[in-house]
Amino acid sequence: MIEVDHVTKRYGAFTAVDDVSFTVQPGEIVGFLGPNGAGKSTLLKMMCTWLPVTKGSIRIAGFDVTKQPHGVRASLGYLTEHNALYDSMRVDRFLRFMGKMRGLSGRHLDERLAWVSRQCILGDVLGKRVSECSKGYRQRIGVAAALVHDPKVILLDEPTHGLDPLQVVAFRDFLRSLRDGRTILFSSHNLAEVASISERLLIINRGKLLADETVDGISERAASAGRTLEDVVLDIVRKSGGSAGYGAIASDAAEPATTGAVR
Ligand code: ADP
Repeated sequence: MIEVDHVTKRYGAFTAVDDVSFTVQPGEIVGFLGPNGAGKSTLLKMMCTWLPVTKGSIRIAGFDVTKQPHGVRASLGYLTEHNALYDSMRVDRFLRFMGKMRGLSGRHLDERLAWVSRQCILGDVLGKRVSECSKGYRQRIGVAAALVHDPKVILLDEPTHGLDPLQVVAFRDFLRSLRDGRTILFSSHNLAEVASISERLLIINRGKLLADETVDGISERAASAGRTLEDVVLDIVRKSGGSAGYGAIASDAAEPATTGAVR
């Protein structure tokens, strides 16, 4: 479970996250949607103990990020925005290395490696170098590395960035296959992708949480007003101020027509 309680983050005098609260329960896949610079990565970095919280509190799987950072780190898997991989390593060796870094060994490590390779459909590339793998495979390798220790909470920063529409659909199915007993939160600045993957949207702009609503709820609201989901979401963002944010979501939302069907 993820519990974010009145969290603020300041970089010097600049407030990047402003009094944000929400919870995500086990079994939920929730999408963090906001234009570039909204504060999504900052929030994820506080959740994974990378950045200190300025004000408020965050609990991950019951552990407080400030007081119990080791418990938090052991409970979560985190795919960073830039998906840092060791390009020159072979995929199977890279995953084994990541498993050992997580304290796994012996038969348990072998079992976990077999599981992530199967779940992330990496069989064809296990013997290749990371640098030889396509973008889609690289994302799956990053996710496999994040899952190797079987975390209960999974944070993914822009996991669909650079994937084609078919890969986005495959990624959605993959996340759904993981959901049992796990809490999954991922960020994106792409409405169509977030709406197609998650059941609930947390819309953020300029550091503020503007909406916490199910995709079905927003879609129904849009339909009853004779509008599209995109219109409603863009209105929410626009009302928070900042034409840049409006443009950033709008241009991307129009892009992947094949994933435009919201669910
Ligand atoms: P997002 O992930 O939604 O694109 P970020 O969380 O990366 O947004 O950034 C939120 C805001 O905080 C942006 O205005 C960004 O420029 C600013 N910011 C991010 N990291 C730093 C930092 N280390 N120092 C100062 N400002 C930062």
